[in-house]
Amino acid sequence: MTNTNHDTVAPIVLTNSSAPENKKPATQDSTSRYNFRNDAFWQQLPIWKEVDSKLFHNHLWQEKNAVTNISGLEQLIKNQVTDAFLKDLEDGHRLAPMSIRLTPYILSLIDWNNALCDPLRRQFLPLASEMEPDHPLLKLDPMGEQDDSPASGITHRYPDRVLFLATHVCPVYCRYCTRSYAVGLDTDSITKKKINSSTERWEPAFRYIESNNNIEDVVISGGDAYRLKARQITEIGERLLNTPHIRRMRFAKKGLAVLPMKIETDLEWTDAISRLSDQARKMGKSIAIHTHFNHSNEITAITARALGILYERGVVVRNQAVMLRGVNNTTEEIQRLNQSLAYLNIRPYYVFQGDMIRGVETLRNSINETIELEKATRGMIAGHNTPNFIVDLPGGGGKRDIHSYDYQDKTLGITVYSAPAVKKDKLFLYCDPLHTLSPSAQSFWTDPAARAELIKHLQERVK
Ligand code: SF4
Repeated sequence: MTNTNHDTVAPIVLTNSSAPENKKPATQDSTSRYNFRNDAFWQQLPIWKEVDSKLFHNHLWQEKNAVTNISGLEQLIKNQVTDAFLKDLEDGHRLAPMSIRLTPYILSLIDWNNALCDPLRRQFLPLASEMEPDHPLLKLDPMGEQDDSPASGITHRYPDRVLFLATHVCPVYCRYCTRSYAVGLDTDSITKKKINSSTERWEPAFRYIESNNNIEDVVISGGDAYRLKARQITEIGERLLNTPHIRRMRFAKKGLAVLPMKIETDLEWTDAISRLSDQARKMGKSIAIHTHFNHSNEITAITARALGILYERGVVVRNQAVMLRGVNNTTEEIQRLNQSLAYLNIRPYYVFQGDMIRGVETLRNSINETIELEKATRGMIAGHNTPNFIVDLPGGGGKRDIHSYDYQDKTLGITVYSAPAVKKDKLFLYCDPLHTLSPSAQSFWTDPAARAELIKHLQERVK
């Protein structure tokens, strides 16, 4: 779907003062084998048939036309899908931990003629028919972020780094979000913890960071820093750059994958991040964007131009993908994604094993399925563009190489990790989804006494 040749639409010309004049971003050349999608793909949906490329490429139009509820979505796609599919979607939505929000960009990259299998549909829109039973050890906050939170919106787990949750909103809501306890609007099943983006709420977080000299590195996330205003990006960035012990900052933004045109048309925002990046470099510090592409279908000529602008301006971009069953769990797709990212000067940094969160078991791989994919992929692209395959340990052990476990029981689908530099003497258990286990292993997990006995046994065995 992505890498086919299409009629071209004119790129928007960047007229910003800090961009070199009369120079096109160098990312896309017409002879490239990537040939990123450059047609009027949004016109496949009747409602946007008359929308021209200038309008579609404008971030304000995208935000105004974002779909934020199930009835709006149904209006949009009712002529493209069957009634049975719509019913399946409604039922799936009622059970989901995340609310709906999708940009027209992502909605129109979904192949609605094949929506059941489409990798972008699977990331954002649940179907009741594809739900799998939750593993009994799943949690709403699997990383225990709230347990390691000394101030509102701060998670302090590693000695020299903190996570700063600056907002609870994103340009889209992903089904598998690790922060479903706080991100997005309340759903039928979850009342979210409120982490709004206001200077008053941020102040205690800033003060905590400023009073801890060991902290050198801050991840600004949420929610998605893409939805912070330019002045808020500047406020956070300058406050942290002016904190002497802070050396590195990372802004987490899925936005580049789902609303890339913002970089071209929200020049105030693009200028704010570019200025911070320049300012950091002059101070001997660093700022990077950590983005979140999961599938090569998310990448179009619009993405290429956006990334070209950031690259020209010297803004470092790294990618953190999530391994998702039915989305990117093939060697071919992981390779295609990594190569496309590398071409756009985005470093493929991590592939995360799916987190143990409720309501999205259909998207999780077992640990060994992901290990096999890692082995098959390694060597296909240069080492500096090969992502690390990571498990973010349930219970707050931090990130570990997926291979680095202490013990594994393949039959019961349980893998034990330790993280001595983060939480000494604690073991962290990652459980495979039940649907990847044999019927007898599945029935083992339904017995609370057997589960407790197993966990006790593992703790003694690994000691
Ligand atoms: S963009 Fe990130 S924070 Fe927002 S819903 Fe998706 S995974 Fe969660």
